[in-house]
Amino acid sequence: VGEIKINNVYKSFKSLDPSKEDTLALNGVDLKIEPGSFVSLIGPSGCGKSTLLRIIGGLDKATSGELFLDGNKIIKPGSDRGFAFQGSNLFPWLTVEKNIAFGLKARHIYKKEKEEVQKFVDLVGLKGFEKSYPHQLSGGMQQRASLARALVGHPSVLLLDEPLGALDAFTRMTLQDEILKIWKQNNMTMLMVTHDVDEAIYMSDKVVVMSSRPSKVEEIIDIDLPRP
Ligand code: ADP
Ligand code: ADP
Repeated sequence: VGEIKINNVYKSFKSLDPSKEDTLALNGVDLKIEPGSFVSLIGPSGCGKSTLLRIIGGLDKATSGELFLDGNKIIKPGSDRGFAFQGSNLFPWLTVEKNIAFGLKARHIYKKEKEEVQKFVDLVGLKGFEKSYPHQLSGGMQQRASLARALVGHPSVLLLDEPLGALDAFTRMTLQDEILKIWKQNNMTMLMVTHDVDEAIYMSDKVVVMSSRPSKVEEIIDIDLPRP
């Protein structure tokens, strides 16, 4: 599971200024992502990477075209897709464990949910920080919590929008390896936006290069390098 098909997807954003043209953020994107693969999405700023990820996540709608996950049309968010962004997309007023439980849509943490949350706290190396608030954590630890929240619902696809972009080089390298480990252990499809070409090549099976004007897939590069 975790196969994504994107057929001729367009997305335009209306301009608030009637004298300006609408922005065509995606201009006929076609892409097929194999189940269980690790795919990176790179391209110049503004070429539509985040927009594409948000549409796959069901957080935004395509203007036209169709997207499928395992043959089912993607129209809204679902627990089959986990989403983690760069920086602090954690709720600042919730503790680490409540942030992660939010991934289970749990308003109260019952026993079974508590076990599940704990499993992912341990997986991302945040044992002991369950009751901490995001501002009490380093950037790397916040990113770990954000990963745990995206993973806790056992998604078949993990969507990562520059998950390591705000981190220092050392923390970044550590988390690259941890994300690879989580990917291998959990049999899921990874789709990661990154600005860092080395990171894309290090982590992925395929690198999808997008162009701006027109905002579409320009090239798909197979990576065949040994990984840790
Ligand atoms: P990338 O992630 O590749 O940097 P984005 O997907 O963020 O690119 O943006 C693609 C284009 O769509 C940009 O020109 C951006 O300004 C525009 N855009 C993105 N989101 C919105 C929005 N909510 N409203 C208007 N324009 C948007
Ligand atoms: P990472 O563990 O993701 O590499 P950092 O490099 O930012 O994250 O943090 C390194 C270590 O410093 C953490 O694993 C943790 O043990 C400790 N640490 C960071 N921030 C705090 C904090 N606010 N309170 C206690 N320990 C912290």
